[in-house]
Formats: sequence, C-alpha cells, structure tokens
Amino acid sequence: MHFADYLYSPDQLPQGYAETRAFAEDLWNAAAAGRDMKVDARRLPESQVFVSDVRYLMAAVQVPAGRPVFRWNEADGGRPASLAAWREQGGPNFQGLLTGCAYEVLLPDAYFAAWRQADRDTRPFALRAAVEYLKTLFNEPANRIRAVAAPYYEHWLEEWRIGFTLANSDEVVHGVTWPLLGHEDENADLGAEIEALLKSTGIGEVRMLDTRMPLEYCEDCGAPLFPNPDGENVHAELPEDMQGTPAQLH
Ligand SMILES: [Zn+2]
Repeated sequence: MHFADYLYSPDQLPQGYAETRAFAEDLWNAAAAGRDMKVDARRLPESQVFVSDVRYLMAAVQVPAGRPVFRWNEADGGRPASLAAWREQGGPNFQGLLTGCAYEVLLPDAYFAAWRQADRDTRPFALRAAVEYLKTLFNEPANRIRAVAAPYYEHWLEEWRIGFTLANSDEVVHGVTWPLLGHEDENADLGAEIEALLKSTGIGEVRMLDTRMPLEYCEDCGAPLFPNPDGENVHAELPEDMQGTPAQLH
C-alpha cells in the first residue's frame, strides 16, 4: 500500500472524472514503483478555513486478483470491528499533523464510497465541533449556549441551518449548515436527528423553528445567513471585541 503524502481538503480533491482518473494514475504509478506519491502542496488550491471539515488520505492498494482489499472484506471481518481497530491503531498517527485539533478517523473505503460516507459523517461532527468551539471561545459551559435550527427552502427543502447564540443574547455568533444528501428530502426526519444531536451536546436550549426559511446568503461575502431566535435570517458574527481570525470583517 502506498500513499499520497498529503491530507487533502474537499476543495483540493481532483474535480470530475478526468482529473480523478489522472490523479489515480499518478498514485498507481507511484505505488507500482514501490513509493509514496509526493504531492506538491503549493500547486493545490488553498483550502478554506472552517471550524471543522474533512481531510482525505489517499492510498493505492495492490492485492492479488480475487483477494480482499480491506480487512472488512474478509469473511471473519466486519466494518465495526475494522473501524474500532483503525481508530485505535491508525488514529494516533494523525496527531502530529492535526496538533490541537479534535478529530475522528473514518473507515477506509473505495474513493467515491468513502467520500459519500464522509459527507454524511461530517454533518453531526460539525455540530458537535461548533459547540466545542463556542465553549472554548466564550469560556462558557455548554448550558450557556443556545441553538436555533430551521429548514431552508428554495423551491424545495435545500438544507437545514443552525444558528448559535449565547443564552443571554439573540445575536447569532456562529452557524452550521446541514446539507441534504442522496435521496433525502423533506420527508426525511432530519429535524428530529438534528434536535437529538444538539441536545446530546448538553447545550442549554435547542429551538426548532418550523418556519420555511428562504435560502439566503450575505450579499457582501456570500456566507449563508442563519436563523436567530426570532426566526429572522441573520449574519453569524462574533461580538466586535472578539473579531479575530475566524470572524467576519463587515
Ligand atoms: Zn457577509
């Protein structure tokens, strides 16, 4: 097994099938020559900065024809056991690359399947990460944080958005989007899933709006607008005295 020696952000992955095929060929060629693929990170697009997102580790695996690629492909293997083993044995190897970050490693899989699964697993991770981020940033316990979640529509339900405020304020200080995936539509009970997840973080209040919010973005920076406790679409902004690196500048 040989790796591409870089952790890719979603916007650095090859775009479309032709680029993906070319990338795979480079990786296969490196693997066939018995080495890892050297990635020149300066030639990749700059990754955007989020409170939490996904990083991809890519590998080429050579196995004799007809033999399993993954441990969980074997008769006595299984995904849950493989994931537990990978977390325990593989997980710590990422510590040096992700200093000071909370991270979760996901089960290795075929490229597109892993990508789809990562999209799915990122949604709850982003919500939990947002609560951790706000606890640290404001130095407040979870029960002093409030979340307001609402469904966002264009013609149909497009996504859910979750605005976060402190308990004593209606100002939205941070927001997270929860995109729909695959065949999900308004019949999927995403609201219940989001509500249960938010409650499990121990935050003080979870307000679920049943208003259909319009899918609006900031006209200046294109950031999505988030629901405040009054059901209005607002820009998520840190208080002025805290507007450091991750904040909005307008
Ligand atoms: Zn803006």
